[in-house]
Amino acid sequence: MYSAQVSHEEIDVLSPEPITLMPFSLALSRHGLKLNRVTTHTLQVNVGFLCNQTCRHCHLSAGPGRKENMELGIVNEVVSYARRSCFETIDITGGAPEMNPGIGALIEGVFPLAPRIMLRSNLSVLNDGKKDQLLKMLKAYRVVVVASFPSLNEFQSDSQRGDGIFQKSIDALRKLNAMGYGHDGSGLELNLVSNPTGAFVPPSQAEAEKRFRKILKEKWGVVFNNLFNFANTPLGRFRQWLVKSGNFTAYMEKLSASFNPCAVEGLMCRSLVSVAWDGYLYDCDFNLAGGLFMGGRKMHVSEMPGPPEPDSHIATGDHCYTCTAGAGFT
Ligand code: SF4
Repeated sequence: MYSAQVSHEEIDVLSPEPITLMPFSLALSRHGLKLNRVTTHTLQVNVGFLCNQTCRHCHLSAGPGRKENMELGIVNEVVSYARRSCFETIDITGGAPEMNPGIGALIEGVFPLAPRIMLRSNLSVLNDGKKDQLLKMLKAYRVVVVASFPSLNEFQSDSQRGDGIFQKSIDALRKLNAMGYGHDGSGLELNLVSNPTGAFVPPSQAEAEKRFRKILKEKWGVVFNNLFNFANTPLGRFRQWLVKSGNFTAYMEKLSASFNPCAVEGLMCRSLVSVAWDGYLYDCDFNLAGGLFMGGRKMHVSEMPGPPEPDSHIATGDHCYTCTAGAGFT
């Protein structure tokens, strides 16, 4: 499949070429499947779209110019929600969540309420010279760091994420390793997320993890715990890039052709609820990007009595094919 080098600055909002795709809901029913919730054990908190990077693959079109940022009042609402819901995991994401002034309050607030706190990081933001306090806090609170590290190839990585980002990411990984992150037995978990740099479905996760572990260790002395390998979701800036580069139709067809009914049972939306920067709830971060409210109904975190009920409906769209391609996206 063709992968063009189109800079994100060139990308306008374009209509995709016409495409005939079986609706995702129909693909489910053809296999006798329904996408409903089980017990919801994870609260994902998207603190906003502000980011120091403007990555081509970003499904949220996050970047330095974005103004959507969770305010302290909503942070407090989220903490109250976590208190009345007993989640097992709080998964903090953005944008670059480290850039939200309320990040410390959020981590402190949810720390006593859930056994596992995760922070998704683009890594480069940890190297701006202003995050030492936050790094100390992550270590003290045993926050799991889930770091975006798309490629081992510096040129490919910089073309997707911006000039110089690869080296800054390596420096940040070394800093985290020096603090104990990524070392077996340290209790400080460092996981990497890799994704293709073009319009491709990713290779096997086990193979990719082996390759990343070997090369990162040999070339840069970097260690980590697990690697997750995901396809890019055709929303936001990545969708615009697919359209602009003429890859949209072929990519969507590739995803739908890779539909794996066995992946449905483990989809993250079945056990996760996502809260956006403004407090509204979604079934996952992709539905947040696509504007599909939780179960198709607009609901604010302050009105939510507890976790979504088991068996409740999950809103879906064609972007859901990303999650069911191959081994799936959990
Ligand atoms: S995009 Fe969201 S709702 Fe759709 S399958 Fe993936 S996790 Fe579930």
